[in-house]
Amino acid sequence: MSAHKMMKYCCYCGAELCLQQIAGDIQPRLWCGQCQHVHYQNPTIMVAAFLYCGDKLFWTQRGIEPCKGKWAFPAGFVECGESLQQAAARELEEETGIQIKPSAMIPMSISSIIPIDQAYMVFRSACDTELLAQTTEETLDYGWFSRADAPWDKMAHEDSKPLVEQVYSAIENNDFFIRIGKMDLTGNCHQCYSLKP
Ligand SMILES: [Zn+2]
Repeated sequence: MSAHKMMKYCCYCGAELCLQQIAGDIQPRLWCGQCQHVHYQNPTIMVAAFLYCGDKLFWTQRGIEPCKGKWAFPAGFVECGESLQQAAARELEEETGIQIKPSAMIPMSISSIIPIDQAYMVFRSACDTELLAQTTEETLDYGWFSRADAPWDKMAHEDSKPLVEQVYSAIENNDFFIRIGKMDLTGNCHQCYSLKP
């Protein structure tokens, strides 16, 4: 577990937490001696929506920190009470005003980002036309870019460049895949599984 997520006090009763081995568990857990609550700490899930039209991908320019002014894709954290697909559709709509049915969000990439304890799930959705979007507080601008025109040198998350390049290859060749793997301190390690029979 990353140190930055280590909780110090119980969020229910305020007592100081300690690490305690729970019977049958594989590792010590943060435990409150006062109210006996075990505070499990698990990765948070982030979702992203990659819209495409022909060989173009829909990019957004971030309106908020971190990376304000840089280019990325609509994304955010899954809320309790919604599915992964609903979260992707909601984030897309919040950031751009574009409405896509959750069921049209097709899984494309599943990454474990180990150093920050996040799982990152990317969905794709095909569009018949280059949809118009709204700019919002979160989104300064947007664009439908082919690989040649994409704002590669102004990407918010350089780490996701290999993914975005693979997504371009998929839409250019109409050859889609499910990509799964991890990013950790040793680098970026993913495997692509073609969806072609
Ligand atoms: Zn407590």
